[in-house]
Amino acid sequence: MEQTKKTILIVEDERAIVDIIKFNLMREGYDTLEALDGETGLELARTKDPDLILLDVMLPKMNGFEICTALRDGGSAVPIIMLTAREEETDKVFGLEAGADDYMTKPFSMRELMARVKANIRRRNFSYGASAGAGSLITAGSLTVNPVTFTVTKNGSPVELTQKEYDLLHHLITARGVVFSREELMQKVWNYAYFGDMRTVDVTIRRLREKIEDDPGKPALIMTKRGVGYYFAE
Ligand code: CA
Repeated sequence: MEQTKKTILIVEDERAIVDIIKFNLMREGYDTLEALDGETGLELARTKDPDLILLDVMLPKMNGFEICTALRDGGSAVPIIMLTAREEETDKVFGLEAGADDYMTKPFSMRELMARVKANIRRRNFSYGASAGAGSLITAGSLTVNPVTFTVTKNGSPVELTQKEYDLLHHLITARGVVFSREELMQKVWNYAYFGDMRTVDVTIRRLREKIEDDPGKPALIMTKRGVGYYFAE
């Protein structure tokens, strides 16, 4: 069966950067879409359903954080890699809070970018093609996590999670009852030695609860241990 080409949307207002990224992506066998301002980027993300988005932060009309937030609020789980010229820690926090999966600071090497694109696309790619034996399924009440296909269902219906939401859920559900601090989760799920505040973890927990809890206001699955961290109910 023919493997359809993956389409990458590049949202970046510097023509020269768009061109070099596009050249490298096409050489790796990807199709590309491009937007030079934020509004066009959001429009293309919504109408063209790309397989991954490379999203600049500083953009005309609408910035990268706003686009990312708008897509996630709209239920999109498309992998998003934020690109920024700034090295500020706050950018990383904003990007992760907005629901980005990964983050690169300019200038970055094209080789590194291509590696990140491949890694961030792999999970989605895989989840459509693979099938898992029932023995590998993890269940908690009406919730089922399939670690082979990286898919989650609730009452039999698919739940669309971003990569980080999935990774966080998987980390918690495979160690039920174990309380993890925000720092531990940041380290394990985001792989960052992280010195900033831990709002990213709280925001991702909140998004996850909205998707998997019957009543996100009274969670029965992902529990808060006040002053300590989070755990999955036993
Ligand atoms: Ca820019």
